[in-house]
Amino acid sequence: MTDAAEGGVRIRTLEVGVCGTDREISEGAFGIAPDGERDLVLGHELLGEVMEDGAGYSAGDLVTATVRRGCGACEACADGAPDACGTGRYIERGITRLHGFAREVVIEDPNELVAIPRTLGRLGVLAEPASICARGIRHALAAGHRQHWRPRHALVIGSGAIGMLATYFLRVEGFEVWTASRGAAGTPRAELASASGARYVSTRQTPLPALREDVGGFDLVIEAAGDAQVMLDVLGLLGRGGVGCLLGLDSRRQRVSIDGPVLGIDAVLENRVLLGSVNAHIDDWRAAVSRLGVIRERWPQALEAMIGLRVTPDRFADAFAFRGVKATLVFE
Ligand SMILES: [Zn+2]
Ligand SMILES: [Zn+2]
Repeated sequence: MTDAAEGGVRIRTLEVGVCGTDREISEGAFGIAPDGERDLVLGHELLGEVMEDGAGYSAGDLVTATVRRGCGACEACADGAPDACGTGRYIERGITRLHGFAREVVIEDPNELVAIPRTLGRLGVLAEPASICARGIRHALAAGHRQHWRPRHALVIGSGAIGMLATYFLRVEGFEVWTASRGAAGTPRAELASASGARYVSTRQTPLPALREDVGGFDLVIEAAGDAQVMLDVLGLLGRGGVGCLLGLDSRRQRVSIDGPVLGIDAVLENRVLLGSVNAHIDDWRAAVSRLGVIRERWPQALEAMIGLRVTPDRFADAFAFRGVKATLVFE
C-alpha cells in the first residue's frame, strides 16, 4: 500500500541513512526497479515525520518504516514475518522492486511504521541497522539457548554501523565484548567501540586466532565485516556451544578455506553453530528502537558520534564515499 487514498500515511522524510547496500546498488551490483519502471529510488533507512493525524498517528510523530514486504505466497510472509520468507520473492524498499525513502514525501502502510520516541529524535535514523543487529542477536541467542549455555564472551568483527551497534547492544545485554577491525587502536572508531566498555582489537596487530588463544573460544561471534573468509574463520573462533552470526555480505567470486579438523572435529564435538541473518521482523524493529533509547541514556554521546556525516541529498556522492561509521542524507 503506497497510496494515501488507500489508507497510507503521508510522511515527510527528515533523514535517510546511507550504507554499503546503497553504494552497491548505485554501482549496479544489485537492486531492481519496480515493475515497468527504469529507475529505483534508493533509501531503506528512514526517519520521517507524520504529516497528518490518522491511523493512530498524530501530525509531527516521528516514525521509521520496515524495509521488506512479503511475497504473498508463503506462510512466513502471511504470518507477518517476511524476514523468514520461504520463497525469496519478497520486495524491499529502496532495494528490490519497491521505491525507497530518499524522497521528500513517502506514503506508507501504517502497519509497516515503527514509532520513534521524541527523546531519540534524529538518532532514530539508526533504527534500520539497529533492527538488523536486534534480529541477528535474537537468533544467535535462540540458537545458543537450545541447550545449556551461559554466554559471557562476545566478539564483534567489523566496526561499521552494524558492528558498532552490535557492540553496544551486546554491552547492554551484559556481555564482555571484544570489537575487532583492521583500523589501528586510537582511531575514532576504536574510541567509539571502547566507550561502550568493549575492548578494541586491531586485527593488524592481533590476528583473530591469537585473540582466541588469549580469551579462549568465544560464546558469541558477530561477523559484520562482510568478508567470506572471515565468516568461515568464525567457526574456529567459537568455544564450546558457541554461536557465530553472519550479518555482513561478500559477493566476490572466490574460494575460502578452513582447516579440516575445525569443521570435522571441533564444530561437531563442541556443538558450535554458524548462522546467517538478514532483514528484521517488525518486533525486532521495536526492540531495536527501545534499545537505542537505552544506549542513548547510558552513553549519551555514542549514537550521535556514529553519525559522522550529514549532507543534503544533492551531496549524495559524499555520503556514498564516506568511510566513517554512518552517513545520512538530510531532507529537512
Ligand atoms: Zn542499510
Ligand atoms: Zn514469503
